[in-house]
Amino acid sequence: MPLLGCIADDFTGATDLASMLVRNGMRTVQVIGVPDGAAWGGTAPDADAIVVALKSRTAPAGEAVRLSLVALAWLRAAGCRQFFFKYCSTFDSTEAGNIGPVADALLAALGGGFALACPAFPANARSVYQGHLFVGGALLSESGMEHHPLTPMTDPNLVRVLSRQTDGTVGLVPYAVVDQGAEAIRRAMTGLAEQGRRYAIVDAVDDRHLQAIGAAAAGHALITGGSGVAMGLAENFRRSGLLAMQDDPGALPGVAGAAAVLAGSCSRATLLQIGTARSHLPTLDLDPLAVADAGSLAAQALDWADGKLGPAPVVIAASAPPDKVAALQGRFGREAAGLLVEQALAAIAEGLVARGVRRLVVAGGETSGAVVSRLGVRSLRIGAEIDTGVPWTYAEGSGAPMLLALKSGNFGGRDFFLKAFDALAHG
Ligand code: ADP
Repeated sequence: MPLLGCIADDFTGATDLASMLVRNGMRTVQVIGVPDGAAWGGTAPDADAIVVALKSRTAPAGEAVRLSLVALAWLRAAGCRQFFFKYCSTFDSTEAGNIGPVADALLAALGGGFALACPAFPANARSVYQGHLFVGGALLSESGMEHHPLTPMTDPNLVRVLSRQTDGTVGLVPYAVVDQGAEAIRRAMTGLAEQGRRYAIVDAVDDRHLQAIGAAAAGHALITGGSGVAMGLAENFRRSGLLAMQDDPGALPGVAGAAAVLAGSCSRATLLQIGTARSHLPTLDLDPLAVADAGSLAAQALDWADGKLGPAPVVIAASAPPDKVAALQGRFGREAAGLLVEQALAAIAEGLVARGVRRLVVAGGETSGAVVSRLGVRSLRIGAEIDTGVPWTYAEGSGAPMLLALKSGNFGGRDFFLKAFDALAHG
């Protein structure tokens, strides 16, 4: 039975958390979207932790609450005994939510009580000191996040920020306490709960603090935060004898089949990765300016791929430098241009799978969303990381199981595509 049930407010955040749990020894499955009980036939995935990936960060607060409660009910029915609400390490939210309202609803559903809130992730340069969130050396409100188009963060004081989003009250466990370790943090949190506080922002500036906070929260029904604060949770389950030491928590079933890379990201890192792959692998550049129809673009690409598919990957890329992207956007508008390319890549993914591809790397966040939804993927078992933040995953859903690596555009080194398939060959 799973031990830890997690609800993440976006897709890449969910993968980030899932990778963190695997690194710390928990076998982890990521479920895409609100789990449909019928599709799972009453059986939960065989894992130590389950992460439900929602798209609730910028949804209307009522909708975010509704989705999160459905996810919680499913995770409870699956047998999870502790719950984690994952949000961004920059506390992305508006005055209206959604961190406060979702946390309030989850806590109430779990019988009320108290929860800590800690977005700190020192490895990614997010730290919390005296309740203030820093990104690198800058306060959150001077980090660029104050200009975010959807969730501008203009107040770095998280006690104030969370207070505005909840009808409960918010306290602080400051650095001086956190630095004394788990026992001191536990005492401080108990004290705040006894005073009637519903939440505590907890300071953390290094991983030692996150480990101690995790240990102090062993008995909490709900923990809220970024991926960082999840690093101490596996150890609690091991200490209480619920979780065995695993040789390889990221082990994935082997999958034979042809290999491919699909790229829809126009980010610098992805353009460099395609450039590197080009001299080693058959590579097709789609030209949506010349053929501005998703179906025809897909048919051309699949014709090209026929006869080339096998254990060595082919690369199919819509990715283009800024001038070409601007040209397509100038012709169709930004949204329609993106949609055209996403639909073409999703159709190509479907065609490649029909032709026997079972090992697929997808570059681009939105592109990955489009591909996963077209392929009907229901869940991803999280494997070892290829590069930081990008694991191989074992994808199950409507079709045959396959290995998928979903890469946010700017992630990964120059040789990412080659490295991804080398890792499978030697794994
Ligand atoms: P990233 O993770 O780098 O942000 P995304 O996949 O999220 O990548 O976003 C890239 C967007 O650019 C997608 O909507 C994709 O369809 C679009 N796109 C890809 N190639 C082109 C192109 N040649 N012209 C215009 N838009 C493109």
